[in-house]
Amino acid sequence: MNKPNCKVAVVGGGISGLVIAEGLIKRGYENVTIFEKSERIGGKLYTIWYKGKSYELGASFGLPSQLNLKRLMEQLDIKADGPKLSRINYNADGKKTMQIPKELLKDFIDELDRLPDVLEKYSSLENISLQNIESALMLTFSKWCDIHQFKVLKTVYVHYFTIFGLGNIEEVPALYVLKIMNYDHLMSFMRLPEFSTWKDGVTSLTEALSKSIKDIRLGQRVIDILLASNGKLHVKTPYEVLEYDRVIITTPLEQFSHFHFWDRDMKERLNRIKYQSFNVYAFLANRVPKGCGCILENLSPSRQGHITIWNTRWEISNDEELIILYAYDPPYDSKLSPLEIIIGDLSRLGVENPRLYQAKHWKHCPYVDTSELENGFYDKMEAMQGKNNIFLAGEIMSTLSIDNCIRYSIDLLNRFF
Ligand SMILES: Cc1cc2nc3c(=O)[nH]c(=O)nc-3n(C[C@H](O)[C@H](O)[C@H](O)COP(=O)(O)OP(=O)(O)OC[C@H]3O[C@@H](n4cnc5c(N)ncnc54)[C@H](O)[C@@H]3O)c2cc1C
Repeated sequence: MNKPNCKVAVVGGGISGLVIAEGLIKRGYENVTIFEKSERIGGKLYTIWYKGKSYELGASFGLPSQLNLKRLMEQLDIKADGPKLSRINYNADGKKTMQIPKELLKDFIDELDRLPDVLEKYSSLENISLQNIESALMLTFSKWCDIHQFKVLKTVYVHYFTIFGLGNIEEVPALYVLKIMNYDHLMSFMRLPEFSTWKDGVTSLTEALSKSIKDIRLGQRVIDILLASNGKLHVKTPYEVLEYDRVIITTPLEQFSHFHFWDRDMKERLNRIKYQSFNVYAFLANRVPKGCGCILENLSPSRQGHITIWNTRWEISNDEELIILYAYDPPYDSKLSPLEIIIGDLSRLGVENPRLYQAKHWKHCPYVDTSELENGFYDKMEAMQGKNNIFLAGEIMSTLSIDNCIRYSIDLLNRFF
């Protein structure tokens, strides 16, 4: 079928879905529909506004080493014109601490020197799709560090990884940690003032992408996809059933584990995808500290529910200000509610009169564990690409970050469209 006549449905209007839909239109596809369950596009790019200034409840920055994001920004003529982020490490009582204690600095530099040579042995990390994964990468990141005797790097990675809600390195396989935070990104993190942020929020990216896409259906959750006898795909929402030639799914996949045309193995595997339960809170408060602070002691699993990182994003006055806080859900058996824990933390940081303005819960950072990787999860997923004209993208296929999602989405188009 020629491109102008081929009808393509893209499920999900986050950065992955928008990059795919825009790319299809550029390639000559004239019938492209995005189905988005919520009333807005952007997914995990989620900008809110307060007194004329933008704040982020989802993704908030890019790194200079993230070349796919950089290229997309050039293409859309979007500049990194947002506030500079600073980062200071604190203890829970609001006192500044060193990220790496002085006595470990020498070991840290030695380990950092060794890291590029070690990473070079893992050629699968360079692949865009997750295939031919070396077995050591399937182990938890903590075990991978032990194998390579990366004692200090392990804690430094915890700071950058766990702090943003990406999980516990005793549980998450090394593959994800090293795909999300490769050597260049790690180095970019250390040179923090070069972060990209956007004055009009990270959703400037998704707003700009959406301009060339005519058919975006908001508030339309895809509940099923059926394979019709003529070989076409019927996309079902609560309101209608529409026919397409090809469907690209960019959303969390386990909600579709019931599709009738998937074999039992596929159905079971989709139900093994795990997530972090992570919250972002916007509080109005007085005596808000300036800048962006990480509370390193809250990164251990025993402190789950406490603030991992906070930021005030813009220059602040002495008046009431907005502070953004990040925290995992407290353990299931916690005696305190999430907000009781957060308000207690704010008070220890010296913040006064906190008042919740907005909050957002995320099913964050999808992954499968070591045994599922060893069981060939990604071989199965890649083998399913294009079967029955259904294609898979989004975070579990790309691994998290705006840059990785853009990269995988473009690669999917190059391979199949
Ligand atoms: C708190 C937080 C902070 C982050 N910080 C950063 C950062 O600073 N830098 C960075 O690079 N990355 C960051 N990320 C990660 C990054 O935002 C994501 O990896 C990326 O935006 C995912 O894009 P996506 O389109 O694949 O998925 P999503 O953004 O999740 O989009 C999926 C879309 O599908 C829709 N949907 C779901 N089910 C259905 C259905 N059945 N029918 C129709 N639509 C459906 C959803 O509503 C959503 O809009 C962060 C993420 C979070 C949550």
